Parts: sequence; C-alpha cells; structure tokens
Amino acid sequence: MKISRVFALFMVLCPWCGAQDKSVQSAPRPDDRLKADVLLIVAHPDDETGVSAYLAQLLDQGKRVAAVYLTHGEAGHNNMGRERGPSLGAAREMELRHAMAQLGVQNVWFLGGKDTPSQDVLQSLANWHHGASLEDVIRIVRITRPAVIITWLPSIFIGENHGDHQAAGVLAVEAFDSAGDPAVFPAQLAQPRKVNETLLEGLSLWQPQKIYFFSDASDDKQFKGKGPEYPTTAISPTRHLPYWRVAMEEFRFHLTQYRSYIEKLGSLNDEQLAKLAGADQDGWSTPVRLIFGKSLVPGTATADVLEGIKPGSFPFTRPTPTELEQHSGVAIEIGGPWRFYQDFWRAHALMQIPKAETPEISVAAGTTLQLPVLLRNDGNEATEIVLTTTLPDGFALKNTLPHYRLVPGDVYPLEVELTTPANKSDQVGEVVCRAEAAGKEIGAVKLRVRVAGGGLPQ
Ligand SMILES: [Zn+2]
Repeated sequence: MKISRVFALFMVLCPWCGAQDKSVQSAPRPDDRLKADVLLIVAHPDDETGVSAYLAQLLDQGKRVAAVYLTHGEAGHNNMGRERGPSLGAAREMELRHAMAQLGVQNVWFLGGKDTPSQDVLQSLANWHHGASLEDVIRIVRITRPAVIITWLPSIFIGENHGDHQAAGVLAVEAFDSAGDPAVFPAQLAQPRKVNETLLEGLSLWQPQKIYFFSDASDDKQFKGKGPEYPTTAISPTRHLPYWRVAMEEFRFHLTQYRSYIEKLGSLNDEQLAKLAGADQDGWSTPVRLIFGKSLVPGTATADVLEGIKPGSFPFTRPTPTELEQHSGVAIEIGGPWRFYQDFWRAHALMQIPKAETPEISVAAGTTLQLPVLLRNDGNEATEIVLTTTLPDGFALKNTLPHYRLVPGDVYPLEVELTTPANKSDQVGEVVCRAEAAGKEIGAVKLRVRVAGGGLPQ
C-alpha cells in the first residue's frame, strides 16, 4: 500500500515520467552453486570407488565435481541391519552422501531407477523407464553444466559387468549428445509463466565437451592406453594422505555392503594398509584408468581430462552417425544387448570405444546361458534355416532346435538355451551357432563364455 501511494504521488509530481520504464533488467542467471566442472553419472552408491582417487585430485585443484546416481542400490544384502529393498536404498543413499561429503562432493542427486541385478543393459533401461530416466539425466546436465562427464563404459566384457552400470553409461552418452539440443525435453527449457510454476523449468541448453568411461571388466589391462591414467600415490596437499588412501577413507562409509572388509581396514596400521593397497593385493594404489569416449575440442585420447576445455558454454554438436549397414539375403546375427550396442555405438559416433572382438560374457556354473540370435530374410524367397551348435566341454543344448521358416522381410529373434558346466573354470570357451539354408552355411554367431562360481544372472 505504502509503495503504491508513493508511486502515485511521484506520478502527480512528475507526470511526464512513467510512460516508459527506463530501469534496466538483467537476464535471469542459473544458480552458480549447482555448477560443476566434472559430472559423474553412475548407477549405485559405491560406483564412485573406481574413480574417487581421481575425483579427489580434481577437488584439490579447485575443480567442482557433482554426481548423479541412477538407483539407490537397494538390491543387495544388508550387513548392518534388517532394512531391505527401498529401506536399504534409503540407508545406502545416506552412506553415499556421508562418503561423498567427506571426499568433498556436496552436490549429489539420486534418480528414481530401480536396482536391476542382471548383466543385460536392456533390462536395466526398461526397468528405469528409459525415456523418463533420460529426461532426469538431461535435467541434471542442464542444471550442473559440466565440461566433462565421467561414467561407466557402455560395452559388455567378461567380469562383474552390471547391466545398471552399462545403462548409466548409455544414458550419460545420450545426455551428452542431446542436452544441448533445443528440441529435446523443451519443457525443461521453457520460460516459467506463473508465479507458482511447477511445469516449465527455465533451464538453458548445455553441451558438455568431453566424455570418459571407466570399467569393472575382469581384464582391465586391455584398456591401457585408451585414455588418461592418474597415479594415486601422490600426497594430497589438503588431506596429507596419498590419494589411494583418500579413496579408501571415502569407501569406509559403505558399511551395508562391505562391513567386514571395512572393519578389517579399521584394524590395520598405515604400513599394513599400504601393503594391502598394492597391485598384488587389493589394488587401491594402482592408477585410475579412464577410457576416452569422445571430445568436441582438439586433443588426444590419453591427454589430461581437462586439457583443451573451453571456458563457458559450447555450441550444440550433433554426433555424426556411422552409416547403417544394409542387409541382403539370408543372415544370422547375434541379438539382445550385443545387437543393441552395435546400433548405439553407431548412432552416437562411438565406434572407436573398446569392445570385445568376439562377444563375451561370464555366467554362473550350473545355470542356463541364453545366446540371443536373430535370423533375417532380406532376400525374395521363403527360406528354411537349420541351426547347429559347437559347444565347449560341459555345455549342453537344453532343447533340440527346430528348423526355422522365414518369408521375405522376416526377422526372427530366438534364444538358444544351453546348460552351463557344474563347476567354474578360469578358461574361456567359445559357443558357436551356425546357420545353414538350402544345405549351405550362411553364417555363424559366436559367444566367448567364462563359467564363474557366481555373479549376476545373465
Ligand atoms: Zn554398481
């Protein structure tokens, strides 16, 4: 009331003013507290462990690091209490927040994906409602405006290669390639229209400049030279500990997952911890090995993560996809997640990232291995296809395979099911499935398999 009365008085005294408001307004600014130089995009609380020694180095250089977790990691055991399922997820979120705060990462987001214990990236993406999760990840990229994204490698290797890890990598790549696209999730970019706006978000486009991966594949030597490596033995000037030890201190909060191991760490002195951290033991003091994904600024794959980064925003750059392969005649191909990755790498210009030369997987002893196969008829006559298999010792076909009849244009997806040997082995065997049409071999699908004592279901 008072202000309007003053304004009215002013108008009486100064009648030629007010026809035009000459005050200057600035464009609305994003919240600088949310800005990150590097954004970590992962699946579960504890996934940061593989790179936390490097994140600590970035923090010591005054760089801002933020993290986003696609799930709460609720699908495991609980070594601390009776809480399971969503309650265990709540406990793990708490552990992670304490751990990251100790490391120096204050901005951590949890999204709504469900922990999906399988090795199949497609199951994780489906269980996370792929489109909704992508919208959430792109929102975090547009809020945090990172120059660099670090995430899990979207590729399948023998090892504890979690489908959720791969799905986090897939979403991170998709967000890298589309957070700068004005046509993608435009409600996030739209100008808020109401005082109590709940729908339109007022964000700006954001194009990150580089993306790097890390992997938990059993053989990580195969990634040597595929990206920069960061030794962890230097002493942090702010924490007065070697970086591997900073990572170990961060890890100590993950008690629901690793209670007995963490209690063992607590019982060791500095010298014993250093011995345990060696490459021949638990490997804490080995370098952090990153895998180069792609970069929009000049530089080499093994150069420093921040080398060549341009300050400020970067123009949207649509990836140039590799040409789609043309199909002709009758063919057999591997299906499932392996088929997906060929399309994914092609669409996102990632053909150079590490991939197994022959598709590979690790499965548990005494279980079922599914080999997904696609039969195609891109010819112009109906065809009957006969499949035969060659199996490593101890594997057996669960059911005899019928003959498959395909008319022109058919794509026939099927699963060849095998029982795995009763005992685990360090050997990697090769499953081969050959296809014949009209008495002539038309091709074969191969899968290298290691039989493990346990691990995630396929
Ligand atoms: Zn994980």
